[in-house]
Amino acid sequence: MISAEIVSTGTELLLGQSINTNARYLSERLAALGICCYFQTTVGDNPDRIRQVLENAMSRADLIITTGGLGPTMDDLTKEVVAELCGRSLQLHEPTLHHIESFFQRRDRIMPDNNKRQALIPEGSIIIPNHLGTAPGVILEEGTKTFVLLPGPPSEMEPMFEETVKPYLTMKTEIDPGLLHSRVLKVVGPGESVVEEKLRDLLLQQSNPTIALLAKQRGLHIRLTARAKTKVDAEALIKVTEAKIVKRLHPYIYGFDQETLSGVVGQCLLQRGKKLALAESCTGGLIAHEITNEAGSSAYFLLGVTAYDNSAKKELLGVEEKILQTYGAVSAETALAMAQGVQKISGASIAMAVTGIAGPDGGTAEKPVGLVYGALVDGAYCETKEFRFVGDRKAIKERTATAVLNWLRY
Ligand code: ATP
Ligand code: MG
Repeated sequence: MISAEIVSTGTELLLGQSINTNARYLSERLAALGICCYFQTTVGDNPDRIRQVLENAMSRADLIITTGGLGPTMDDLTKEVVAELCGRSLQLHEPTLHHIESFFQRRDRIMPDNNKRQALIPEGSIIIPNHLGTAPGVILEEGTKTFVLLPGPPSEMEPMFEETVKPYLTMKTEIDPGLLHSRVLKVVGPGESVVEEKLRDLLLQQSNPTIALLAKQRGLHIRLTARAKTKVDAEALIKVTEAKIVKRLHPYIYGFDQETLSGVVGQCLLQRGKKLALAESCTGGLIAHEITNEAGSSAYFLLGVTAYDNSAKKELLGVEEKILQTYGAVSAETALAMAQGVQKISGASIAMAVTGIAGPDGGTAEKPVGLVYGALVDGAYCETKEFRFVGDRKAIKERTATAVLNWLRY
C-alpha cells in the first residue's frame, strides 16, 4: 500500500489567516482511494524551509502532494524547489503559455510578464490542466517517488484533483474504486463516549469494515468502510456491522449517508400529513432556518415567530402576564404557552416552542446559562422538556435547534 504526505505551503496558513481546507479535502480523498496519509505538513513561503519539508517528505512517503505556491508572484516557489530537488530543469511549455495568454485575453486584460513563469514546467512531468485559473498543476515521477503539485485556491485545486489526479492515482496504484465502500450512520442524542461504550466490542474487533466515530457539530457520524472485490461484496460486509450498530443505537440514528436531520424531520411531517409552526425565543429563528434549508419545506412548514422580548411573547403569542410573572420567561409553562399561542394563530397541527438562556449573561444559580425549555403541541397532546446544554452562546443555540429537530422525529 502506498503512503502519502500532504504538504501545504503558504505563510497565511501558519499565521492563522486561512484555514487549511486543502489538507482536509485531500486527506479525505486519499482515504477513499485506500492511500494512507501518514503526515500533513504546513510550511511558509520560504524556499529553504519548503526544500527541508520536501526532503523530509521524500524520506517517508511515496506520494507527496503539495498545494499552493504555483502562482506568478515572488513567493510562489513550489515548482522551482521540486524541480531543483529532482534535478530537473524548468522548460517553457507552449500550450500552457497559450492557455494563460488566452485566459487574460478572454478577460480583456494584459498579461503581466511574471505570469509567464507559470508556463515553466519541470522537464518530464505530466501537466494537470487548470480550467479555472492560470497555474497548471504538475505530476512528477522521480524514481519510486511521485510529486503532485496543485495550486492553493480550493476552487481550482479540487476540480484538478478530481479530473486528473484521481484517475492518475487510480491507474498508478491499480485501485479499483469499487473496492472501497463507505456508509455513514448519523446519530443524535448521546455523546461520543456513550456511543463508544455501546460499541466497544465492535470497535475493538473491527477490521473489515473499519468503524470510525466522527464527532460533528450536530451529533455524531459513524463511518463504516469496507474493502472487497466488488461493491456488492463491500455492501454485504457493511450490512452485517450496520445491523449490529442499528440494533444498539436504534432510537438515536436519524439517518444515513447524505440525509440531514432537518430533511428527515421534513419527511416525518410529510408522511404524517402534519403542518408545523414554531415559536422561538433563545434560538432567534435558527430552527425555522434549519427547517427551511430543505427544498420543499413549504409543504409542511407554516410559520415561525421569533418572540424574543416578553412583550412579543404576550402580544404576538398571547402568553399571559401571570405565567411570565409566576414561572419566568424561561420555564416549561412559558414554553407551553408559546407553543399553544403559535398553534392558535397559525392553525398548525404541530407547534413547537423554545425558551432558554443562551448566555453568556443572564444565568442564575437556579436558572443557569444553557437551561432551555421546549414544548410540543400536537392536537390535544402536549409535552414539555427541560434541557441543560453547555457551551457558548452559538453552541447553546445550535444544540437547542438540534434537540428540537430530534424531538420532531417522532
Ligand atoms: P495563486 O495563483 O492564487 O497565487 P497559488 O497556487 O500560488 O495560487 P497560494 O498563493 O499559495 O497558491 O494561495 C492562494 C490562495 O489560495 C490563498 O490566499 C488562500 O486563500 C488559498 N489557499 C492556499 N492554500 C490553501 C489551503 N491549504 N487551504 C485552503 N485555502 C488555501
Ligand atoms: Mg500565490
